[in-house]
Amino acid sequence: MATPLRNPIVDTDAPVATLRGGPASHVTVAHSTAPAGPVTLGAGNPAHHVPGSGMDLHLRQLSKRYTGVAALDGVDLHVQAGELVALLGPSGSGKTTLLRVIAGLLHPDAGQVLFGKDDATRLSLRERNVGFVFQHYALFKHMTVAENIAFGLRSRPRRKRPDKAAIKRRVEELLGLIQLPGFGDRYPEQLSGGQKQRVALARALAIDPTVLLLDEPFGALDAKVRVELRRWLRQLHERTGQTTLFVTHDQEEALELADRIVVLREGRIEQVGTPDEIYSDPASAYVFDFIGRANVLEGEVRGGRFHLPGHARTFSADGVAEGPAKLYARAHDIAPGTDDEGIGARVVAAYRLADRITLELHVQGQARPVELDFTATPGLTTPAPGSDVRLVPLRYRVYSV
Ligand code: ADP
Ligand code: MG
Repeated sequence: MATPLRNPIVDTDAPVATLRGGPASHVTVAHSTAPAGPVTLGAGNPAHHVPGSGMDLHLRQLSKRYTGVAALDGVDLHVQAGELVALLGPSGSGKTTLLRVIAGLLHPDAGQVLFGKDDATRLSLRERNVGFVFQHYALFKHMTVAENIAFGLRSRPRRKRPDKAAIKRRVEELLGLIQLPGFGDRYPEQLSGGQKQRVALARALAIDPTVLLLDEPFGALDAKVRVELRRWLRQLHERTGQTTLFVTHDQEEALELADRIVVLREGRIEQVGTPDEIYSDPASAYVFDFIGRANVLEGEVRGGRFHLPGHARTFSADGVAEGPAKLYARAHDIAPGTDDEGIGARVVAAYRLADRITLELHVQGQARPVELDFTATPGLTTPAPGSDVRLVPLRYRVYSV
């Protein structure tokens, strides 16, 4: 059974500071593509911000050390009101630590967290009024869906608590928003995993949070449901305009969902950018590798060009330091070439996946195989294993090592 003590929005004893109700100048509508009319998310409490608004979030030089490891190491970030930002990185890169510091569940060793212009660094989770959803966010099993959603509002101190009718209206509204109207009387065990996470999200939204923090909320669900839910979440975000931080280790999820992506590496920010920027212009080999499959060719930069040992063709490497280097190219950014162009390679194997054929090739002098993707359209023929081909990287990046 979920124990109330572990629930972040249940910290009823904490004093409540007024962080909310800042000037209307905080309000930014992030998405002009929002469907007709914003959804009313207020529970009739005038102190609440206008629906469709969110709060700016500033992180300044946040650091947190555990014995022997810097979980966060000087993190600076500005999330704009209404933005949906994905924190992306491998396990152990500091994503959860960052979210917990923003929520007030964990105090940083150094640095500041600001909501709008207010320094929230010393405030508790309750005072910050954040909404939090975890990967395994146990709903209260003994409470109905409606009671779960209402929980954050019901546990407010009396003077801040909406009346019963207002809470009921709010719950109905949220059930509609998460596309589970009529589910209010069910118990969590009568829901699928995806439905439970939607209820957890409604519960986080019920308090009209300053920021919404989602820590791998779909991580425990199967692949198909995960894809559906992330599209749904994106649409929901466009209606609610909540300032949202979404943690994931799944690059596809981040690319599809986010306005901007923050790539973390060992407690530091490696790159911040739109999904397009991150995908097309990875700032480092680390980011390139992490965002999608990468082909890597080892060589060196001489006279501003990348040379592949044993091959005549060279590649531009402007601005890359002279010396050992690696050329990175995605599987779909390499085209077959003619005899007098490209890099010689031999087909080792062909793999058929659902909708694509991947060729594995050996490039002379290279330890790692190169992979090429072809969309498996009807009638497609690909070179057979054993045949020699030429490869032309159409889009690539060279990084010094
Ligand atoms: P992520 O969410 O990206 O997987 P975390 O923020 O959970 O990463 O962890 C970042 C680093 O901090 C890891 O090296 C992890 O082992 C360490 N860490 C996290 N929490 C603790 C803790 N309570 N005690 C000691 N080390 C921790
Ligand atoms: Mg984590």
